[in-house]
Amino acid sequence: MKTRAIYPGSFDPLTLGHLDIIERSSKMFPELIVAVLRNRAKDPVFSVEERVEMIRKLTEHNKRVHVDSFDGLLMDYADSVNAGVIVRGLRAVTDFEYELQIAQMNHTINEKVDTIFLTTSLEYAYLSSTIVKEVASYGGDISKFVPKLVEEKCLEKFGGRKEG
Ligand code: ADP
Repeated sequence: MKTRAIYPGSFDPLTLGHLDIIERSSKMFPELIVAVLRNRAKDPVFSVEERVEMIRKLTEHNKRVHVDSFDGLLMDYADSVNAGVIVRGLRAVTDFEYELQIAQMNHTINEKVDTIFLTTSLEYAYLSSTIVKEVASYGGDISKFVPKLVEEKCLEKFGGRKEG
């Protein structure tokens, strides 16, 4: 497709599942903006600036990918950057109902913008930022879930394995 696309999310933190969607969807569009949502997670582990910086480093090899943050309505942001497509990942049926609702609402707000869904690669189907944070907070090994850089940053936030 010839339009610019947005992959929005909290990415607190970015997982290998997110990275997989970024790599795959960036091949479909001339430009993909990974857009970190400013106002969703009330008590994030990583600040928006930290998340943007991590994602930038992890995608710098891919010239089609740009990283940004946004506030407020996604459809207003889409207009402001002249994007025609929103990319979302679907892990399981549990994602579907919520994602469908959001996509339909967004299309009603701004009919110039369509949402497309990429199904998760099977190996990452169980992965979520929440699970990563949970495991990291108990000092567990998250190396199979996140890129090395994210693992290091999580270690800084949560420390190593805790006693007891
Ligand atoms: P949000 O808080 O907006 O759901 P997330 O950061 O959790 O943001 O996820 C952003 C997008 O990435 C969503 O479309 C979500 O379905 C997708 N996603 C989350 N985890 C994975 C995964 N393991 N594999 C593929 N896509 C995923």
